[in-house]
Amino acid sequence: MSDSALNSSGSILQSIGIFGGTFDPVHNGHVMVARVALEELGLNRLLIVPAAQSPFKPEAALAPAAARVELLRLALADLQRCELDLQEVEREGVSYSIDTVRAVAERFPEAQLFYLIGADHAATLPQWREAAALAELATFVVVPRPGEAVPVVPEPFRGQVLAGQPTDISARTLRAKLAAGEPIEDWVPPAVAEALKTMHLY
Ligand code: ATP
Repeated sequence: MSDSALNSSGSILQSIGIFGGTFDPVHNGHVMVARVALEELGLNRLLIVPAAQSPFKPEAALAPAAARVELLRLALADLQRCELDLQEVEREGVSYSIDTVRAVAERFPEAQLFYLIGADHAATLPQWREAAALAELATFVVVPRPGEAVPVVPEPFRGQVLAGQPTDISARTLRAKLAAGEPIEDWVPPAVAEALKTMHLY
C-alpha cells in the first residue's frame, strides 16, 4: 500500500489509477496489471481507458472500439473498484494521455493520480505530448514486463516500479494465435475466450 497523501485541510486523498492502452484485445497481462495495482497501490478506483488510436501505433488498424470495450467489460467484471472510462473512444482520433489525465484531474480534483504503464513504454515517457505537464499531474507506475530491462521512471516523471509478477503475454502474440486458430484459454479470462470465438476479429 502506498503512503496516504493528505490535502491542504489534512484529509486523506483518494487515490485513482489510470490504465490506458489499445487493449486489442484485452488479455491476462492487462488483468494482472489491474489486480496488482489495485492491491499494491491501495487504489480507491482504477479507470481502464481504451484508446481510440495510439500515438505510438498510428498505422495500426485496431479492432472496432465497441468490440474492444465489450471484451474489457467481460475481462474486468470480477474486479472491484475497477471501471471503464470511455473518454478516449468518445473523443475519437489519436488519444493523448495528457488530455485524459487532465479530464480525470478535473473529475477528481482532490485525488492523487497514478498512471500505469508497462515497462516497454517507460523509456518513451519523455516523448509523450506535454510531458512536463503530464509529469506534474500524475505519479507514474511502471509494471515489469518479460524481455524488458529493469524498469526505471525517467526524469521529469515521478513514480515507482510495481512488484507484480511479469507475465509473458502481449496482444500482438494473442492476435497471431487467434488468426492461426490456436488455443488461447491460458491467455485470456474464460468469458473473453468464449466471446472471441464468436467475434472473429483477428
Ligand atoms: P500490443 O502487443 O498490441 O502492442 P500490448 O499487449 O502491449 O499490445 P496494450 O494495449 O498496448 O497491450 O497495453 C496497454 C498497457 O498495458 C501498456 O502500458 C503495456 O505496456 C501494458 N501491458 C500489456 N501487456 C502487459 C504485460 N504482459 N505485463 C505488463 N504490462 C503489460
